[in-house]
Amino acid sequence: MSIIVQKFGGTSVATAQKILAAARRAVATKRAGHQVVMVVSARGHKTDELVDLAAEITDAPPPREMDMLLSTGEQESVALVAMAIQTLGEKAVSLTGGQIGILTDTSYTKARIRNISTDRMRRCLDDGAIVVAAGFQGVDDDLNITTLGRGGSDTTATALAAVLRAAECEIYTDVEGVFTTDPRLVKDARKVPRIAYDEMLEMASLGAGVMHSRSIEFAKKFSVPLRVRPAYSDGTGTLIAPEGEEDQRVVSGLALAKNEARVSLSGIPDRPGTMAIVFSKMGARKIPIDMVVQNVAEGGTAEVSFTVPQSDLAETLTAAEEAVKELGAGVVDSGTAVSKLSAVGVGMRSHSGVAAHMFQSLADSGVNIQMITTSEIKISTLISRDQCEDALKVVHAAFKLDRPTNEPPTVGVRQKAGNGDAPSQGRLLHEVVSKLAAMEDIVVSEVLLDESQARITISDIPDEPGISATIFSAIAEGDVMVDMIIQNQSHSGRARVSFTVDRTDLERCLLLVREVVSQWPSAQLTYDGDIATLSVVGIGLRTHTGVGERMFKALSEASINIQLINTSEMRMSAVIARPEGHKAHAALLKAFGLK
Ligand code: ASP
Ligand code: MG
Repeated sequence: MSIIVQKFGGTSVATAQKILAAARRAVATKRAGHQVVMVVSARGHKTDELVDLAAEITDAPPPREMDMLLSTGEQESVALVAMAIQTLGEKAVSLTGGQIGILTDTSYTKARIRNISTDRMRRCLDDGAIVVAAGFQGVDDDLNITTLGRGGSDTTATALAAVLRAAECEIYTDVEGVFTTDPRLVKDARKVPRIAYDEMLEMASLGAGVMHSRSIEFAKKFSVPLRVRPAYSDGTGTLIAPEGEEDQRVVSGLALAKNEARVSLSGIPDRPGTMAIVFSKMGARKIPIDMVVQNVAEGGTAEVSFTVPQSDLAETLTAAEEAVKELGAGVVDSGTAVSKLSAVGVGMRSHSGVAAHMFQSLADSGVNIQMITTSEIKISTLISRDQCEDALKVVHAAFKLDRPTNEPPTVGVRQKAGNGDAPSQGRLLHEVVSKLAAMEDIVVSEVLLDESQARITISDIPDEPGISATIFSAIAEGDVMVDMIIQNQSHSGRARVSFTVDRTDLERCLLLVREVVSQWPSAQLTYDGDIATLSVVGIGLRTHTGVGERMFKALSEASINIQLINTSEMRMSAVIARPEGHKAHAALLKAFGLK
């Protein structure tokens, strides 16, 4: 019999009525022939209230007592939910983290799961009961109660779904699901029936509040199909699942970060260690850096631009001035009233011309692109804030995101691990648990080395709408796949764009590009067939400060010069000289504690 895990967040169990509604859902699922494990959060704002109450007693609540206190929120919920199920005529057993056997370490308020016993849950399920598990909590070896950090019920739900090999983990919440973009800004925004894990992670800033990134990353590692569903209706929500043929569109969604500010450091030395100094200055002030772009150096000097929340601009400028001083050269400038518009879709991996299409639709509505950075499945542009909402609508329509797909809502089918040699229960449990533990501190999961690309740079092109569109349309028409695109802040009306293509496509791409740039007399074309790209991949990189700091420090210590930088929510990439690729890869693996 298949197991369904159903997680109900605080708002979905806030009142007696909502508790009964949650119970009815679990009962209906049970009666449809599934075994059901519910994972429940504390009601409404209970956790916040408890935190506030403790603060009224002391400025420094002892962490052990804090967990003892906070865990009561979930304990209250599970008891009420179990009662509700019983009044509906089904068996239910409420269990605390300790009763289930969720063993954690002793780091109170941010404990890591060490072991999960499935015995008790299985016994209850086999006995025909619905298990109502308290989210967010566990116990340590001495049975001290611990909690997993705010929002930890998502982690509990995904972890239980993974160890129980549930058919689906349903996350009930107060939204319809995941949308193509913010429906408050674009009234034609649609709920997407299905989205790939990576797309969801790249849209994290958009989906923030829907689900914690860490649990999505975790679900991805164990192929746990997640379904974000509304608690208030029968909506089928959005399935977050492995990439499948069902993903019909090349772009699944758009994200807009409205209140960004840009900071550029130009004329800085083009030598190893420069970026390490810049990032350490930002890191020291804990400035959350988002979009980072470094284009190829010119005349011996380099330049880097990045975005920060508008509210952090003043502090960022101070840090940037410090960096320039320490570097002994450079000029700092900034731009306010800018926004970041991004398109996300796994279809970009296999379709050329996606970037060209986006740039063209922006050009058609007179939007100038100030900066560009891309990843395999994401294109981010920095544009002027007063145009951003119109631009969002235009790009939304350009990718036909306002039209429905015909895809029927599917129930996730769990992928079999391996070819027939599914890991034994014991091994799976061990894997799940060790991943969970490791994930709490390491945001970086991989460092990739790609030696297959070549770089092309076009400098001194006019800084006006439509230039990037013209370039990338010509390349797409020639059927060349572009990997990474980088455009940084322009100077005195001149822009510079760099991109990478497969080295085997270099000659063909140069022919296409030469033809198109011939219309701009001042334009310069350069290329380099001898590059390597290093990408640090993980989650929670939206603020790239810490990762950048570590990455550039390691490269600096290995005396490696960085030619280009580009970023997305899930990765930070640097282009270097190919002969240094392996040395750099080793240095980064070491810096991030990976093997
Ligand atoms: N009640 C806890 C919190 O608010 C855990 C959760 O809701 O996921 O952080
Ligand atoms: Mg909550």
